[in-house]
Amino acid sequence: MPKAVGIDLGTTNSVIAVMEGGKPDVIVNAEGARTTPSVVAYKGEERLVGQIAKRQAALNPKATLFEVKRFIGRRWDEIREEAGRIPFVVKEGQGGGVRIEANGQDLAPEQVSAEVLRKLVNDASAKIGETIRDVVITVPAYFDNSQREATRQAGEIAGLNVLRVINEPTAAALAYGLDKKGNETVLVFDLGGGTFDVTILELGEGVFEVKSTSGDTHLGGADFDQRIVSWLADEFKKDHNFDLRKDPQALQRLIEAAERAKIELSQASETTISLPFITFDPETRTPLHLERTLSRAKFEELIGDLLRRVREPVQRALSDAKLSPAQIDEVILVGGSTRVPAVKRIVKDIVGKEPNESVNPDEAVALGAAVQAGIISGDASLGDIVLVDVTPLTLGVEVKGGMIAPLITRNTTVPAKKTEVFTTAENNQPGVEINVLQGERPLAADNKSLGRFKLEGIPPMRAGTPQIEVTFDIDANGILHVTAKEKSSGKEASIRIENTTTLDKTEVERMVREAEQNASADKARREKIEKRNALDSLRVQALQQIDESAADQALKDRVKALADEAEEATKGDDDARVADVQKRLEDALRELMTASQAQGDAQGQPKQDDDVIDADFKPAD
Ligand code: ADP
Ligand code: MG
Repeated sequence: MPKAVGIDLGTTNSVIAVMEGGKPDVIVNAEGARTTPSVVAYKGEERLVGQIAKRQAALNPKATLFEVKRFIGRRWDEIREEAGRIPFVVKEGQGGGVRIEANGQDLAPEQVSAEVLRKLVNDASAKIGETIRDVVITVPAYFDNSQREATRQAGEIAGLNVLRVINEPTAAALAYGLDKKGNETVLVFDLGGGTFDVTILELGEGVFEVKSTSGDTHLGGADFDQRIVSWLADEFKKDHNFDLRKDPQALQRLIEAAERAKIELSQASETTISLPFITFDPETRTPLHLERTLSRAKFEELIGDLLRRVREPVQRALSDAKLSPAQIDEVILVGGSTRVPAVKRIVKDIVGKEPNESVNPDEAVALGAAVQAGIISGDASLGDIVLVDVTPLTLGVEVKGGMIAPLITRNTTVPAKKTEVFTTAENNQPGVEINVLQGERPLAADNKSLGRFKLEGIPPMRAGTPQIEVTFDIDANGILHVTAKEKSSGKEASIRIENTTTLDKTEVERMVREAEQNASADKARREKIEKRNALDSLRVQALQQIDESAADQALKDRVKALADEAEEATKGDDDARVADVQKRLEDALRELMTASQAQGDAQGQPKQDDDVIDADFKPAD
């Protein structure tokens, strides 16, 4: 059976890992790197994914898509503000969802994420020599229902079988605790590029039990970068009365420079940001340069309020787990942004403990996902591992007066099932509309509506008489299914929660088809290019042989003519012609080499042979 893999589909970087000889291990990508930037660029007919896409971002700012995870499974009104701060176009889609515009195409965030998944899996398949189909994908623990569902759909669009969607901090804990023997209470602190997650778990004897989880899906290293960008742009505006944020190319360069500066400040106490020719003076048309020094202290000041925002989720997780900071045995740091010294400091300050840095913050999540993939696909080397996870947010229905009636409260162990009985508010009410909500606020309107459905055909009865059973069922992926049943008539209605932000089935099917077509088009394009490259190097080789060969001129002329023909063929679109010229040129070249060798032998010229060369360079006696 082909192997199941674990994928950390990160906001910034993604990682893929597999169980190998009883241990999870990262699979390097085609470029030989252990992490792959979650960046997709559209350029002409081509799609670039990973480092190659990231590298050309400044030249192609409107069609280089990054941090798309911020938009997956979201409603437009949730991300409107963020959408305004990036160089590519994010807009409202049908039904209040989010769409991304790139290269004249309208893309769902799921489709863009699918490209990242496809690259990871294709590269990994090539590396391990097996076609991978089964995957476990991680999501931030604090992802709500639509974000989870959308992530699963991204996997589907990439042609994968998503065995399970698991929480990133839980995965990290699996990687950390795999070889631990005793009992421990750990707090996983995961601060990546776009999201912050904190999870408290109890580990012991193969049982990983999540006690509580909390976080902020709008907080990460990219926000740090953004602060540096704003500072740089404000300073620049003061000096030159020009707003760099209005120029997508300049903005993209600013973002990249800001991230570099931030990373340097994790080591150095000061760094210089230098962006020559960032723009032109609007009046004099002379080039303008940007040069600034940023100290670590200034950086910490710029991100001060962002840093303080990690405190509340940590405290909420502690109180939900009914634990005091002193009861935490280890604090595990995950995510690239935990390398920022001020982040480490604040963690230490909140929990009162030096963080444990034994896991690789970039890889732990993917490694844990690989462990989970191993568990699900029955990898015998793993023994009995039990994973008990929780749902991050309260789920309920809207009731009279616009209030929420919770059915499953946050931090309930999943899978979970709960039924409650509701009734009508009016006499002879023929139906009820059930508005499914997720969130912690008492008023329905302040929470996220995951979807609405109607239960109709209730027989005429006085208000308060019908018994309507509403059942919430959360599966192991943390995805909710809801049913409602009127008891006297047996009328039933159910939905798998699909609201406007998740794609409907036909859309997913269309995207799967498109992605497959794209993939085969990509492959065909690659093959086309490779064939032309092969013919071109044969042409170069032929020209060299003509120069060096001692064969007769007629043959040389023939090869030269074929080389010219090859040059022409590589420029054209005719594949059959490329193949034909390739073959004829190969034959002619072989003839040339044979003839040349025969000529050389006849004329007593040294053969291109080691022995002869040795003889020529014999030391003088
Ligand atoms: P995600 O889970 O969002 O994909 P990662 O865990 O890969 O993210 O973290 C990416 C973030 O970490 C980026 O914002 C990146 O700039 C930041 N980062 C990586 N290395 C460092 C470092 N040495 N110092 C500060 N920030 C870093
Ligand atoms: Mg991450």
